[in-house]
Amino acid sequence: MADHFQLRLVDSRMLAPSVRHMVFERVDGQPLAFQPGQFVQVHFHYDDGTATKRSYSVGTVGDGASPVQRIEIAVSYVEGGAATKLLGELPVGGMVDASGPYGRFCLQDGDRHPRYLLLATGTGVTPYRAMLPQIEKLLAAGGREVVLLYGARSEAELLYGEEFEAFAQTHPGFAFHACLSREARAVPRPGDRYGYVQNVLAEFGPSASRDIAYLCGNPNMVDAAFNALKEFGLPVAQIRREKYISSR
Ligand SMILES: Cc1cc2nc3c(=O)[nH]c(=O)nc-3n(C[C@H](O)[C@H](O)[C@H](O)COP(=O)(O)OP(=O)(O)OC[C@H]3O[C@@H](n4cnc5c(N)ncnc54)[C@H](O)[C@@H]3O)c2cc1C
Repeated sequence: MADHFQLRLVDSRMLAPSVRHMVFERVDGQPLAFQPGQFVQVHFHYDDGTATKRSYSVGTVGDGASPVQRIEIAVSYVEGGAATKLLGELPVGGMVDASGPYGRFCLQDGDRHPRYLLLATGTGVTPYRAMLPQIEKLLAAGGREVVLLYGARSEAELLYGEEFEAFAQTHPGFAFHACLSREARAVPRPGDRYGYVQNVLAEFGPSASRDIAYLCGNPNMVDAAFNALKEFGLPVAQIRREKYISSR
């Protein structure tokens, strides 16, 4: 159930030139009970006093089940954005009003398909970071594989790329593919692919009997990948979506 609370910024770093990783803790000292894949909302006011809010996926890597003390989000700056200004300028120690958790973009116990196709662009990869402990358990149980196709314009914009690469190295059932749409890496890696994620999909031969798909991030990518997966025969129930639309 969603709760309202204040968050205090305890740490931050830039993940890319215009993406800030922010680590918050609840001011009341309580942990946040969330399911990996869920998001929180930040509440604030425009200059004219009108109340508004924005959503941010929780990217904390916990154990996949217990409440977490640290609420980590990745904020991609949008030119002229109200939340961008608030969160981009928030100093360590600064506070914001928030609520959550919300959303159903989560791995589900009842799913039995042998392969998960996880697609993301930009900060849309954050929910998958939070899901890593659950993915580890899924893989350990056997008979499953997970493929993450992550779209970014260039290597500099691959958020948490090294974490996913490291996870792939230690978990043979997990494949990580950076899908670079503008610029190859200076030193390309075997998993790299070129072009938009939705166009890279065909190589993996998605099928209704094999796959459950998750799509997160840019609404254009989500729509294009959704249509492509339907063309491959996946029923809508096997395609889960989270669109990062502005919630003004
Ligand atoms: C469920 C959900 C989860 C989300 N999770 C995240 C997350 O983890 N990280 C994250 O960074 N964002 C996430 N978002 C998007 C986020 O909520 C805000 O919409 C985003 O941060 C922009 O807010 P803003 O106030 O800075 O810009 P706004 O003041 O809302 O917009 C300023 C201007 O930029 C335009 N604009 C808004 N968004 C974009 C965009 N993405 N690209 C180009 N132009 C844009 C608007 O149309 C407007 O003209 C999520 C959205 C949803 C619905």
